[in-house]
Amino acid sequence: MSAQRLRVAVLGATGSIGSNTLDVLARHPDRFELTAVSAFSRANELADVCLAHQPRWAVLPEPEAAQALQQRLRDQGCRTEVLAGAQALAQVAAATEVDAVMAAIVGAAGLPPCLAAARAGKRLMLANKEALVVGGAFFMRAVEEGGALLLPVDSEHSALFQCLPLDASTWSDTIDHIVLTASGGPFRTRDPQTLASVTPDEACAHPNWVMGRKISVDSATMMNKGLEVIEARWLFHLQPDQIRVLIHPQSIVHSMVVCRDQSVLAQLGTPDMRVPIAYALSYPERVVSGASRLDLLNTPSLSFEAPDGRRFPALQLAWAALRGPEGSTAVLNAANEVAVEAFLARRLSFTGIAQTVERVLNDVPPSAADVASVDDLLALDARARAAARRTVGG
Ligand code: NAD
Ligand code: MG
Repeated sequence: MSAQRLRVAVLGATGSIGSNTLDVLARHPDRFELTAVSAFSRANELADVCLAHQPRWAVLPEPEAAQALQQRLRDQGCRTEVLAGAQALAQVAAATEVDAVMAAIVGAAGLPPCLAAARAGKRLMLANKEALVVGGAFFMRAVEEGGALLLPVDSEHSALFQCLPLDASTWSDTIDHIVLTASGGPFRTRDPQTLASVTPDEACAHPNWVMGRKISVDSATMMNKGLEVIEARWLFHLQPDQIRVLIHPQSIVHSMVVCRDQSVLAQLGTPDMRVPIAYALSYPERVVSGASRLDLLNTPSLSFEAPDGRRFPALQLAWAALRGPEGSTAVLNAANEVAVEAFLARRLSFTGIAQTVERVLNDVPPSAADVASVDDLLALDARARAAARRTVGG
């Protein structure tokens, strides 16, 4: 084994981003080594990953499931050590044997291991946008203090990052605003009167991307773009009014930077998450990602439209939370996670998602004491979840 190989932990290895990451890693066994993996409920899939790649560690939430997996792997001659619990996630994220962490857990549950990786100065490849939306200034401080290299994996933020150098001080005076592009999801042209009755499967049928169910629903409400507005605010040190959103149904232009002199920088490509994943893994170099080539001669015409605020009320809530007291974005995220879960379980209507988030934002205004430490932020997250559960009646 070469000592130069990047030793990678993939947190959320059984998900959509996790499996795309494993695909890119497997294309470059000379450059990357899979050192740790985690899953939440899909222990069988995690077992397959361990048998195929023999990572040093695997993490599951429950000790019983971890023991069962350990036994199964041992019986098959696999030497992966299986650990259990949230503490173990943070432990592998910060381990000296790990150089880089792919944060591909969905939701605020990913915040503690992200912070552990940030404090330990890792290359932190962030797909888990909710962690940054909740952690905000704390997250960025942990990155700075730990000397971590925070690299975006979200395709829009990767696009911006490919247009702008990492050090914002070199360009912050030169840009006017950025434009995050959005596909508009499956309901871009659907009669708004019918949105209250759409089913989880309809909401998860994304036109351009195959993703986990939570982010698919977020794309249908456009809350995903709202979370990305907040993510961009932190990653690129922007003011809320420097971030704009345009619907671009073809998902070819992944985002744009509009400079002071009106020059516009953009990144284009086929919609394939392996491109931003490969860039985060190989930055500042580039490696083959497995994505197909963009063939502009056989691509439908690129079009752009303004998002309709009545059809997508969730999007505006992100700016409201950014302009509100610190901690409001954590409240927004918590309420959204609960509301999406309730929608997927058919306990809440699709239009009820944005209504729930708006109500919880009004009912749970954060104070300075709620953002004094990460524990305070997590307590605020729990309070907002409780308020959201009361609102959806679950
Ligand atoms: P997914 O549902 O397919 O996978 C989520 C992963 O997280 C799974 O491995 C699951 O086992 C694990 N997980 C779920 N809940 C957990 C918990 N409480 N504790 C520990 N692990 C848990 O989701 P995904 O589509 O891969 O998205 C992952 C993250 O990446 C999300 O934050 C999403 O917003 C972001 N993202 C995804 C895409 C995409 O194309 N899928 C694009 C951009 C950003
Ligand atoms: Mg995105």
